[in-house]
Amino acid sequence: MSRIIGIDLGTTNSLVAYVDEKTNLPRVIPDERGRALLPSIVAFTPEGILVGEAARRQLVRRPRATVYSVKRLMGRGFDDVKGELRYLPFAIAPADGIVKIQVEGREVTPPEVSAVVLRALKERAERHFGEAIEQAVITVPAYFNDSQRQATRDAGRIAGLDVVRIVNEPTAASLAYGLDRLKRGVVAVYDLGGGTFDISILRVNEGIFEVLATNGDTHLGGDDFDRVLMLWLAEDIQSHHHRELAQAGVDLVRDADAAQELRLAAEAAKMRLSTVERTTLTIPFADFTYHRDIPRDDIERLIAPLVAKTLGPCRQALKDAGLGASEIDEVVLVGGSTRVPLVRRRVQELFGRVPHSQLNPDEVVALGAAVQAHILAGGITDMLLLDVTPLSLGIETLGGIVSVLIPRNTTIPTSAREMFTTSVDGQTVVDMHVLQGERELAKDCRSLARFELSGIDPMPAGMPRIEVTFLIDANGLLTTTAKELRTGKAAAIEVKPTYGLSETEVQRMVEDSFTYAEADVETRLLIEARNEADTVITHVERALRQGAHLATDAERRAIEAALAKLRQARGGDDRHVIIETTTALNRATEHLAEVMMDAALRGAIQSRRADEIMESQ
Ligand code: ADP
Ligand code: MG
Repeated sequence: MSRIIGIDLGTTNSLVAYVDEKTNLPRVIPDERGRALLPSIVAFTPEGILVGEAARRQLVRRPRATVYSVKRLMGRGFDDVKGELRYLPFAIAPADGIVKIQVEGREVTPPEVSAVVLRALKERAERHFGEAIEQAVITVPAYFNDSQRQATRDAGRIAGLDVVRIVNEPTAASLAYGLDRLKRGVVAVYDLGGGTFDISILRVNEGIFEVLATNGDTHLGGDDFDRVLMLWLAEDIQSHHHRELAQAGVDLVRDADAAQELRLAAEAAKMRLSTVERTTLTIPFADFTYHRDIPRDDIERLIAPLVAKTLGPCRQALKDAGLGASEIDEVVLVGGSTRVPLVRRRVQELFGRVPHSQLNPDEVVALGAAVQAHILAGGITDMLLLDVTPLSLGIETLGGIVSVLIPRNTTIPTSAREMFTTSVDGQTVVDMHVLQGERELAKDCRSLARFELSGIDPMPAGMPRIEVTFLIDANGLLTTTAKELRTGKAAAIEVKPTYGLSETEVQRMVEDSFTYAEADVETRLLIEARNEADTVITHVERALRQGAHLATDAERRAIEAALAKLRQARGGDDRHVIIETTTALNRATEHLAEVMMDAALRGAIQSRRADEIMESQ
């Protein structure tokens, strides 16, 4: 049995864990100095690459070469992260739509940076076990789309890890608490980390997890607590020691070194205040030493508005899941910032129940990843972790219409199959266009991939039987297969969606589908009417070529007139007129069709008789 490790690749901190075979309990693997958390920070120095604590110490001295919060950039396009740039001191280069970070005269991709963190954790595990580790389960936020998940897999691959499963963070946290053993229930996972807040509502049913709703704030977390405390301290120091500061020419907020010092002191005090009622903060300056006694009340007053900001997304997630707070069976706390007593109180008030907090909130995701890894390594297959597709998936059909195969919010893994055909006689190649989105027309959806199904035997339009299959695996990867059943020709593509579908874009695409619903349906109906008209026109033209001798002159003239009328109507954009003229043409050819059918049947019967006669001889 090969060993699989569980990794929480966090925005602020990352961890690695495994399940201890003796106790069957998950455990975090600490570094040589006993620290479980590895800061997700990578510094590119002329002497080499630093990671974790060592890189964190470079943050002030080399802000442009020290990369942190890279998780925000994983699998995103340049346009998606434009809004993030003001939060990040390092330079971003647009390159083929993929974000690249410029550090020390070189360019690195987000998966490359994450790979440095993953490699450090891999090596930590290898030292612990004294053997090579090649497989890992890695967690991602529930809202991560396919490209963000793919980027995470890429990071694993670069680090020399085979990522056997990508698991949602809230699911992992629930697994760590053994909530998969619930027969049925609804779990709320409240995750407040360093710079992000996520709330997820999961349904558990016979060990299967399903994400019902997610919400959050991508710029809210413990860093904000540090910032408000730091600004408050800066003001206090300024008011008590303004003369000394002015003499030394120190600006506490603008001076990078001083600000960093103050930030670290603020964070340390914040952490102490999670367990003790009051603490003393001491910061030595060149000419004086600042002392301050801080009761917990002070910090609670400062961060109360920030904590309150997490409650709106919680209510929205409940609403999206169609549930009231009282219908939540279990609440799980995740993220270092949920150690703050005020946060716990607010969460408990909102859901009306005591949240799970027996495990370290900053370790619980890694512990759950280890549990999942253990299940996979042991070959236990009765547990599937579900997820949903954020947007509908389909293919483009005649006239630029989207035919949806997998609707949005379908739980994955899933598959769908549909039959299609050709629209032109003798067509040997079909262009397959895979789309993502909620609109009726391909041009309004997101193009995921294009491929060709070629080598089809030339047949009349409508004869080929093209079976299109969509398969989404448990990791959210989509495989599209097209197969012409008569000739057996097939083509497939694994959709590695173009990096860069943002949360806001998903939101916008869903909203747009409502806004344009009516206009979209009208356009779709018009295109469908035109497609139908084209089919009828082709058939009638063929009938006139082959069966003209079976029709009377008057009949033929009537058909030709109806045909001309439909050709004209088809060029216009009145759907009702097109439908009416199509019906009129159908009616005009009814008699001819009947005679042609009779003739064909007679022909068939006659040849059959001939066969019979031959046989009896
Ligand atoms: P992420 O999931 O974003 O990688 P973590 O879950 O590790 O991050 O959370 C990091 C945040 O938790 C930091 O802002 C840190 O200051 C905060 N934190 C850690 N321990 C405590 C504590 N004892 N009290 C308050 N905040 C804490
Ligand atoms: Mg986290």
